[in-house]
Amino acid sequence: MAVLWLDEITADDLELVGGKGASLGELTGAGLPVPSGFVVSAGTYRSFIEETGIDEELFETVDVDTEDSKALAEAQSRAKELVLETEMPEEIRQEIYDSYDEMGDGDDFVAVRSSATAEDLPDASFAGQQETFLNVTREDLVDRVKRCWASLFTQRAIYYRQEKGFAHDKVDIAVVVQRMVDAEKSGVMFTSHPSTGASRIIIEAAWGLGEAVVSGSVSPDNYVVDRDSGAVEEVTVADKKTMMEKDEATGETVEREVPDDLREAQVLDERDIERLVELGERVEDHYGTPQDVEWAIVDGEVFMLQSRPITTIDDGETEIETDDGASANGASADANGASATAAGADGIADGSGAVEAAGGAGDAGAGANGDVLVSGLGASPGMASGAVRIVDQLDQLDKVSDGDIIVTEMTTPDMVPAMKRAAGIVTDEGGMTSHAAIVSRELGVPAVVGSTDATATLTDDQRITIDGDKGTVTQGRTETTEEREPIEEARPKTPVKPMTATEVKVNVSIPEAAERAAATGADGVGLLRMEHMILSTNKTPAKYIDDHGVDAYVNEIVEGVRGVADEFYPRPVRVRTLDAPTDEFRQLQGGEDEPDEHNPMLGYRGIRRSLDRPDVFKHELEAFARLYEMGYDNVEIMFPLVNDAEDVIRARNLMEESGIDPDKRTWGVMIETPASALGVEQMAEQGIDFASFGTNDLTQYTLAVDRNNENVADRFDELHPSVLQLISQTIETCREHDVDTSICGQAGSKPKMVQHLVDEGVSSISANIDAVRDVQHEVKRVEQSLILDSVR
Ligand code: PEP
Ligand code: MG
Repeated sequence: MAVLWLDEITADDLELVGGKGASLGELTGAGLPVPSGFVVSAGTYRSFIEETGIDEELFETVDVDTEDSKALAEAQSRAKELVLETEMPEEIRQEIYDSYDEMGDGDDFVAVRSSATAEDLPDASFAGQQETFLNVTREDLVDRVKRCWASLFTQRAIYYRQEKGFAHDKVDIAVVVQRMVDAEKSGVMFTSHPSTGASRIIIEAAWGLGEAVVSGSVSPDNYVVDRDSGAVEEVTVADKKTMMEKDEATGETVEREVPDDLREAQVLDERDIERLVELGERVEDHYGTPQDVEWAIVDGEVFMLQSRPITTIDDGETEIETDDGASANGASADANGASATAAGADGIADGSGAVEAAGGAGDAGAGANGDVLVSGLGASPGMASGAVRIVDQLDQLDKVSDGDIIVTEMTTPDMVPAMKRAAGIVTDEGGMTSHAAIVSRELGVPAVVGSTDATATLTDDQRITIDGDKGTVTQGRTETTEEREPIEEARPKTPVKPMTATEVKVNVSIPEAAERAAATGADGVGLLRMEHMILSTNKTPAKYIDDHGVDAYVNEIVEGVRGVADEFYPRPVRVRTLDAPTDEFRQLQGGEDEPDEHNPMLGYRGIRRSLDRPDVFKHELEAFARLYEMGYDNVEIMFPLVNDAEDVIRARNLMEESGIDPDKRTWGVMIETPASALGVEQMAEQGIDFASFGTNDLTQYTLAVDRNNENVADRFDELHPSVLQLISQTIETCREHDVDTSICGQAGSKPKMVQHLVDEGVSSISANIDAVRDVQHEVKRVEQSLILDSVR
């Protein structure tokens, strides 16, 4: 038997049909209205690989070194090819078609989804086995089933199995095939109050398919029903801007605007509510515990799409399930043992309304609205709500849609396009100067970094709210949350800029933020980090040059800088030559050749690397030469992580060799090590025009506090007296030598640092985009008080 019908499946079949299949079978068996369907059993997958004899090759193919990303990618594609190109044995194929034919009239659309088997891989979602296909026709059915099978061998699946010590040949997969329900209305229902357990049924409802409610992209109507009296106690009708529905022409699920007359209309009528309450009672009776149910209504008929126990009711004990750290929405704590795994782990928000969008109603699963789930450092201000997207290095970034919240160990440069789409960002690692923190601030996307365990605690599709000021991540959507304005609109309309003697500039790392940065009215760019331009190509410079040639590489830099230089012209733009530690380069294509350093922060980065590889560095300088030729005389060159005059001399010589006249152009260094602060006089003698405090590094090297190590984050203090003393001394020396001073580290955005610097006579301060205004005012205040002091 290749397939099992949902109405013959019970919890005991878990091994055969996976968590999702078992859960749907249970509901069907209880007489609840579940869209009809069948499960292609895990045993069928096993027969397929064994009967066709591809099993051995398949398991050999995926037995690779998971740290070798190229090998991993090849393993995925070879395994997929093997599964897809191997003919399905005739009897299995026939049984699948026969079952499909038996289900309807032959032209029905079905949803086809993987259903992982519990024992083998409890955290299936992390393994990426979440292949789901909607609106599948008979013609495509067999292919889609095979694609679900092949999803056992995505890079993520291979990687995680290997990491967790699961044998590839011991893991099976079932596939659920179920009639599509083109929901007119859909939502979730809690059969008891999700945090107090009170005898209330809470229903959330929106127009169209389930995805909008599940992903949190629309605020749903909310209904509270007293279970004892049956009275509808509260109805809150929301303004529902968008809905998901099937595009009749293409069969795909699309997001549409809700027609005007429906936007503020109540989704559920009395009859709908009555029917839902009745079904909710039945589901809870069946399981014997409060349930979190997903439902859909089409032509007045209500369907149950998924049911999971509510595990958040506060009975005085800790309720959040973490399922070995992988799945936190509690769905795996199944009271009846039926929906043990896949329901919680799958996290698919696919909008079909056909089966479940597991993890989506995760509000109920992980905690009551407003509960703090994780906390870290508030790295980019503002609040945002949205659906969690756990992203790891191997993920396809198109997983992140507009308005989602990226939850990741640490962001990488190739995530920037996804970060732009995101409503918010949460990371496990990193401090206030990490990639995640810098890029989020520039994009104006709220971020919480260094949370330690967000990727283990949160789960795909869970709806959360992040507070980028306080550094908290809470359950559900916070009513006061404002939609984030798109970058273009978030610009200050007419910046009223206070006149100050000290210049106030802005830091830019990604060229896309240039317009927003320029609109702050800043006096120029105090730091344009070049590495973000290079790293966003996802290749190391050497690899990029190998693949595309020198010209393309130079062009990449020219275009990136030019975008910013144009935006600010004639205001100066200080461009820093490449400064990425080896651990960042390692993540890129070509990164396998990077040295494996024990402490990259003390390693091969900044000017050290550039001087060591003049053959690569000269192309960066070539880009500057080209920009000058093109007339961008507002571009300045800044060298990072210099230690002494020797570094400066060598950098200047290379500049000259590239045809840049140091006497004609403005160039300088960053003061990021105590050595450079103490040796600034000798550097001044070599003709630098400016010295800019990189307090992120200056602090870490002065205090021996790794800036990206959250364990010592509380010791990272840019205002430490020793750091301030180095700064004061450097400013004084530079003033004597007519060298401008500036700050471009994160601390330039802090009022106390601003006070110190202005008191000491710094020439300019470069701040984060969001801080420029405040810094301008703070500078003005301090300058005025200095003037007042002098005349008093
Ligand atoms: C700094 O060190 O303060 C700085 C601005 O450079 P980065 O943060 O890129 O190392
Ligand atoms: Mg630095």
